[in-house]
Amino acid sequence: MYRGLVEKLVQKNDSKILLAVIDGLGDISIEELGGRTPLEAALTPEMDRLAAGGALGLHIPIARGITPGSGPAHLGLFGYDPVKYQVGRGVLAALGVGFKLQHGDLAARINFCTLNEKGIVTDRRAGRISTEKCVELVEMLVDIRIEGVVTFVLPVKQHRACVVFRGNDLIDDIGDTDPGLVGHRPVPVTGSDESHRIVREFLQKAGEILKDCNPANFILLRGFALHREFPSIEERFGLTAAAVALYPMYRGVAGLVGMDIMKCSPEDTTGQAKAVKKALQGGHDFIFLHHKPADSAGEDGNVQAKISAIEKFDRALPSFLESGFDVVCITGDHSTPCPMKLHSWHSVPVLIHGGPQRSGYSSAFSEKQALAGALGSFMSTEIMPLLLASAGKLAKFGA
Ligand code: ZN
Repeated sequence: MYRGLVEKLVQKNDSKILLAVIDGLGDISIEELGGRTPLEAALTPEMDRLAAGGALGLHIPIARGITPGSGPAHLGLFGYDPVKYQVGRGVLAALGVGFKLQHGDLAARINFCTLNEKGIVTDRRAGRISTEKCVELVEMLVDIRIEGVVTFVLPVKQHRACVVFRGNDLIDDIGDTDPGLVGHRPVPVTGSDESHRIVREFLQKAGEILKDCNPANFILLRGFALHREFPSIEERFGLTAAAVALYPMYRGVAGLVGMDIMKCSPEDTTGQAKAVKKALQGGHDFIFLHHKPADSAGEDGNVQAKISAIEKFDRALPSFLESGFDVVCITGDHSTPCPMKLHSWHSVPVLIHGGPQRSGYSSAFSEKQALAGALGSFMSTEIMPLLLASAGKLAKFGA
């Protein structure tokens, strides 16, 4: 699509939009379901009602055949070309633990690892230490001081942590120190510039602190990435947006595009419904709602759990809609087929209800009906213009 076209046509009004994302929603034919998908097999009267009165289609998250991570897949849904707006692994890790990154911060993922007496990596994950142990080790590293930068070390999970360097003119053209295989030494950091010097010094100090620990006596660094600020969803689409998500990474990605992050208490669909209401009362006109369990079930290959996760969302849907939306979109960020136990490239069903739609094509929300739906197949980045148009927020192009 012509870049900047949508932004030029944006016109503000009072319409309210809900973008509800059932993570990993899409699936493929499953034998134990008689060839149906979990979405087809699930009892979803609320979504079926919206499907009948709205329009369905399928979105392609990145490009045909490309399997996305949840980060880029969400950026696509928010109208950001995920290939243009790339978020490095290190940045996603820091956002994932709720760290507030600033423009120019350099972030990297940490793996605690085991070295033998010759300095050779014998376990790249230090025996998958517990998260408690990880927190303990991170506490040993937080006091590392390096001239020219402020350093933050954050625990993630098990053997995983991350580090953020805050300073001036840092670069992220730094290779992984993880050799990728056991039996090799960590890859040395050889560059002569300031950023390489900082990383070298951090590794050296971390090595001194951890040398007597067992099994995690060193760290490997991967995925160096600079945090770059994106144009906000308000600047681009004139929306005052809020995120109602329970998992840190999704709050992080929403924060990247300038959404306000709502607190959810309790941390379940009840708390989310309250947060949706509060966001609307607070003047937000675009709410991103995230529902995680379908993706986790898909990654576990648990068909029944995925069906339950979808049904749970459907039961909670009236409480989300109660606050009053003019346009509602329900979709997934990508497919997580249970037989694959992984994210996949398959297109994802989209439901748009509200505003003028070619309705009557569908009677239920499913992959099959989405294929025959009025919206056809389109790129994930086109969802945002469709929602803006449905909400009367896009003016005509030309006379
Ligand atoms: Zn996802």
